[in-house]
Amino acid sequence: MRHKIRLEGVVTPEAVREQYVYVPFEMPAGARRLDVNYHYENQVQGAQETHPGNNIDIGVFDARGADFLTGGFRGWSGGARTAFFVEPRAATPGYLRGPLQPGEWTIVFGCSKIDDPTVRWRVNIEVEVDVLAPPQETSGVPLPGGEKRPVVAGGSDGAGGRWYRGDLHAHSEHSDGANTVDEIIDYTRRVGLDYFALTDHNTISHWDDLARLNTGAAPLLIAGEEITMYGGHANVWGLDGWIDFRGSDSEKVQRLVEDANRRGSMFSINHPDSPIPWLHPSVQSYQAVEVWNAPWRWFNEPALERWVAHLRGGQRMVAVGGSDSHCVPPAKMTQPNGPGEPCSWVYVEGPLSERGVLDAVAAGHVFISEAPAGPFLELRADADGDGVFEALPGDRIDAPADRAVRFHVTYRGPEGKHIRLIGREGLVREITPETEEHDSEFDLRLEGKGYLRAEVRGFRGRPDRGEVVHALTNPIYWGAW
Ligand SMILES: [Zn+2]
Ligand SMILES: [Zn+2]
Repeated sequence: MRHKIRLEGVVTPEAVREQYVYVPFEMPAGARRLDVNYHYENQVQGAQETHPGNNIDIGVFDARGADFLTGGFRGWSGGARTAFFVEPRAATPGYLRGPLQPGEWTIVFGCSKIDDPTVRWRVNIEVEVDVLAPPQETSGVPLPGGEKRPVVAGGSDGAGGRWYRGDLHAHSEHSDGANTVDEIIDYTRRVGLDYFALTDHNTISHWDDLARLNTGAAPLLIAGEEITMYGGHANVWGLDGWIDFRGSDSEKVQRLVEDANRRGSMFSINHPDSPIPWLHPSVQSYQAVEVWNAPWRWFNEPALERWVAHLRGGQRMVAVGGSDSHCVPPAKMTQPNGPGEPCSWVYVEGPLSERGVLDAVAAGHVFISEAPAGPFLELRADADGDGVFEALPGDRIDAPADRAVRFHVTYRGPEGKHIRLIGREGLVREITPETEEHDSEFDLRLEGKGYLRAEVRGFRGRPDRGEVVHALTNPIYWGAW
């Protein structure tokens, strides 16, 4: 038997200010499939950033409620789909399979882009009910978010520390990406990534595939989510379950940061200046900024400056990169880069594990290069003067009062590029390697509270287009950070 519900309404200017519209409906007992499709006036054709019209996102919460942070999240497709289904053992990508508990469910609209003063919408809901089925038919199917996600170990039995190549930011068909998770992981294997975080927008439905594909072969797969708000995007990695995305004002965004921190993840602001700017300057306690999103382009310069402003202001902050890949072959390539471009290298002690990667990111043991092939760029320091360069980017060292500290730069990449060593006051030293393998050492007197980081720049194409960044490291810090 099929229950059909048709709901209609209007998005008003008040709703646009609130950002989200809640449309409750009744899930009958014995439901075994939910189908939803929706329509609205003057839907934007093409990219919403550049084309006129309206865009209304959609998702659904189940009978556990739709409260901020604690709601019973069952899926989100943003503006990527106009229809979805949920069954106990299957669902449209972006949605979580599981029992269809009777009670009040809620369709959530997100007012992503509303050009018109008001917008009429319509939702068609169909619920397939098996009146004869015993109510416990789906009782063996756990509620999404109820299970503890297994902690992933393995991937390498390497003892001692080393740099691992990876990517912290990418999308699949579980949000607005073009590929299945299998296709993307195949690609990451071919380009030689050691670890890979898939961060679909506002959902965790891709985590099932990650768990299935996390077989111990490279890359190590890390469950992530891109918290996709209308005032900015942020990545979280390694959580035990879904995290809310409805940060409609700075106070709510602050609560999301605290929720991520409390649950053992970091909160990392993505592409903070463009294409989606970060509009919550008062929010604090996040740990990382994506200074390099996709291939180095003009909009990465203000992201880099934003990070540098944190550092110069005396605040420790981790710089990360993210490909933000939405497509790999055989899908049509609508962006020039795939996963690993740029590549975030993390220094992990002992065997590669999810915890090891995330601890390395949290510690700032990270440098970023334009591709998995490099350039390789390492900055180390010998703080105690024993001849061993034990301090890595992200580390804080004690500056000796009576002598200089020796630093070591390792570069593997094209000749003729400029390695710039940059401190809190600006450029400290510039090296232009004449070979593809460069190692050098220099001494610095360290005073007060400072840092040193390395950045490699050069021309990509015509010199009049200016220099791009080929690689950059997090800083080595000294003093009271
Ligand atoms: Zn984003
Ligand atoms: Zn993204």
